[in-house]
Amino acid sequence: MQRKFSFAITTFGCQMNKSRSEHLAYLLSSHGFIPSSQKEEADILIFNTCAVREHAVERAIHHIHQTVEQLSLQRATSPIVVVCGCMSELLREKLSRKLPFVTILVGTSGWDKLPSLIQETLVERETSCFFPQEDSAPFLESGYLHGDKISAYLPITYGCDNFCSYCVVPYVTGRQRSKPMDLILQEFQNILAQGFREIILLGQNVNSYGRDFGEERAFEKLLETLEQRFGEQKIWVRFITSHPKDMRKSIIGMVRESSIFCAYFHLPLQAGSDKILALMNRKYTQREYLHLVALIRETFPEGGIGTDIIVGFPGETEDDFQETLHVVRKAQFDIAYTYVYSPRPHTRAATLVDDVPLKVKKERLSLLNSVLREVYLERVRCRLHTETTVLLDEEDDSFFHGHTASNLRVYIRKREGYQIGAFVPVKLRALQGTKVEGEIVGVRYEDSQTALSCRSDGKR
Ligand code: SF4
Repeated sequence: MQRKFSFAITTFGCQMNKSRSEHLAYLLSSHGFIPSSQKEEADILIFNTCAVREHAVERAIHHIHQTVEQLSLQRATSPIVVVCGCMSELLREKLSRKLPFVTILVGTSGWDKLPSLIQETLVERETSCFFPQEDSAPFLESGYLHGDKISAYLPITYGCDNFCSYCVVPYVTGRQRSKPMDLILQEFQNILAQGFREIILLGQNVNSYGRDFGEERAFEKLLETLEQRFGEQKIWVRFITSHPKDMRKSIIGMVRESSIFCAYFHLPLQAGSDKILALMNRKYTQREYLHLVALIRETFPEGGIGTDIIVGFPGETEDDFQETLHVVRKAQFDIAYTYVYSPRPHTRAATLVDDVPLKVKKERLSLLNSVLREVYLERVRCRLHTETTVLLDEEDDSFFHGHTASNLRVYIRKREGYQIGAFVPVKLRALQGTKVEGEIVGVRYEDSQTALSCRSDGKR
């Protein structure tokens, strides 16, 4: 009998990368490779990388180096090492020098060829680099191999047309390509059939879905079609990321009317001052951003708004930074991912003088995080003693952990008759530090008449 080879994937970066790793795992499995969660035992080590921040790149290189070196010492034969994704695309030459043991180096395209490339390498033990100009099969996501059956990612666009001045994504993933709607519907159906409870529609800028095939309102059409076909299902659907410049009243209205779309909006702010927003090429002003937030808050008082913020962009003065804090206090973000600016190759911002000292950047980051913490705690305190729905997604010996439709993390003492994957009615009881403690009240929604009307908190 022919020997089967095992593989382990390490993923760096965003949800898009996680989704691509899940698809790669599916693809390799369907070609006879065996997924393994044990790097120590896998024949093939795959590193799906990210290039969005300099610090992340250095960390990834260090991690790959250490892992491969350690494992090679422990084994009789060295593993096959595959490095793929944004970092490979951006830094091909550098990686060939810094990671000389890599067997296959692949960029962001052509992953459909990976099973055959790996097969060839297993036979011939030769190294290869593969960087096709065009993605030969960008939408062949016949399936995903997920770790659990709770939340599934479903990419609806790839690449980005926005060219924010600090961002390397358009240079490594190319221009926006929207997945045809019939393929999305098919994948959605497949994911549902596998029993998932939540589907996350993914893209760098989901609300410009379809613009590349000339349709301005294709995203609304997609939401409408999903609602019509799947609106009766016991499932949550969310979409990330939404660019504030492309967020429309019609989309917010469709979420309000829907019984499957969650009232959570991820709207990267990036900076609060109009001067910095213009330098970043974000194409909205502080006023427009806050107007959008007000509209969402008015429509979904209990809904969630998440964001990304960069501090220390070139030219950011103390006053500019105070504008960012002003927006944070006004918008009352529920979730935020914060970063210190670092110049990225090819980007327009890299031609500007990186004039904010690192010490100042770090001080601003720390102050920003403490203000974000305050506003988060304030919002949670207002929700204490109210009831909501939680999708249980993890467990340990004593507690379930889960999230609400608005993306609030909650932990709950375990009770008989419940398991992860269930939508449960929960009363938010207390704050322990930044953690929210809840208590299961009533019956599982699966067993009750109220399931549909209670699932998306903040809407009804
Ligand atoms: S919208 Fe801007 S920040 Fe987001 S991926 Fe595109 S260029 Fe990068």
